[in-house]
Amino acid sequence: MYEFEYSRAASLEDAASKIGADEEAKLVAGGMTLLPTLKLRLAKPSQLIDLSAIPSLKGISEEGDAIVIGAMTRHADVNRSDVVRRGIPALAAMAGLIGDPAVRNRGTIGGSIANNDPAADYPGAVVALNATVRTNKREIAADQFFTGLFETALEPGELVTAVRFSKVAQANYQKFRNPASRYAIVGVFVAKTASGVRVAVTGAGACVFRVAAMETALAGNFSPDAIKDIQIPQDGLNSDIHASAEYRAHLVNVMARRAVQACA
Ligand SMILES: Cc1cc2nc3c(=O)[nH]c(=O)nc-3n(C[C@H](O)[C@H](O)[C@H](O)COP(=O)(O)OP(=O)(O)OC[C@H]3O[C@@H](n4cnc5c(N)ncnc54)[C@H](O)[C@@H]3O)c2cc1C
Repeated sequence: MYEFEYSRAASLEDAASKIGADEEAKLVAGGMTLLPTLKLRLAKPSQLIDLSAIPSLKGISEEGDAIVIGAMTRHADVNRSDVVRRGIPALAAMAGLIGDPAVRNRGTIGGSIANNDPAADYPGAVVALNATVRTNKREIAADQFFTGLFETALEPGELVTAVRFSKVAQANYQKFRNPASRYAIVGVFVAKTASGVRVAVTGAGACVFRVAAMETALAGNFSPDAIKDIQIPQDGLNSDIHASAEYRAHLVNVMARRAVQACA
């Protein structure tokens, strides 16, 4: 039996006060992860607080050299946005690789990063693009936001309101996807900016991570050849029926080189 109360928050303040008052409550965004979790009885929330009727959480806007994407903006909207396609083409393309059309038309950026699935695509983009996560309480740098397997820096009662990305022309995401779920077995997002190169890997480990050796090599010589001999250690990588740790380590190098090639 499901036993929870459902309510649609009328405002950000309403959602924050409801989630802050009940530690068994759960926010629901697109429901693409939360609803299967409930069906499998892996979560038993006391309340579901629906964020879908809060207009301030939706939409994409430009703030000078940055693009701000509201937490409730769906993957399909990011993929189709002219603002994102012009300002960060790699981000728009990445959103178009998530799941299938049904998932992209329900799933949201806020739900994806708050959930921090190890095989999700957005964590790679958020870290490689050095984005800032905005919450109802503060701003959190990408490098501090994703803290472990399904873990983030969000505190109880804290919710994602938007993500701010600086515009970057030279960036690319390469994903080796699971053909059934379409999640990343390994995904590598490379971004070259005035302040340096960032290489973020998703799918390979418990949580998104950067590859410092590749970033340094690419800062000196931004070409696939510069990283061809850089292998990441297999220790701590995911190993499952889809791919061994050894195979994932190999894929990180292959996907990184493809991403650099595509940037060039
Ligand atoms: C078949 C299938 C295939 C998929 N394939 C991919 C894929 O290829 N790549 C990929 O990246 N993802 C994939 N996904 C995941 C999907 O893209 C969603 O992004 C993800 O499920 C979470 O987003 P949501 O909006 O549905 O969040 P929900 O399921 O509603 O919520 C997820 C979690 O985040 C919390 N939450 C939601 N919004 C907020 C907020 N604003 N602040 C704080 N906490 C919040 C909820 O309480 C819940 O714990 C797939 C999902 C399915 C079902």
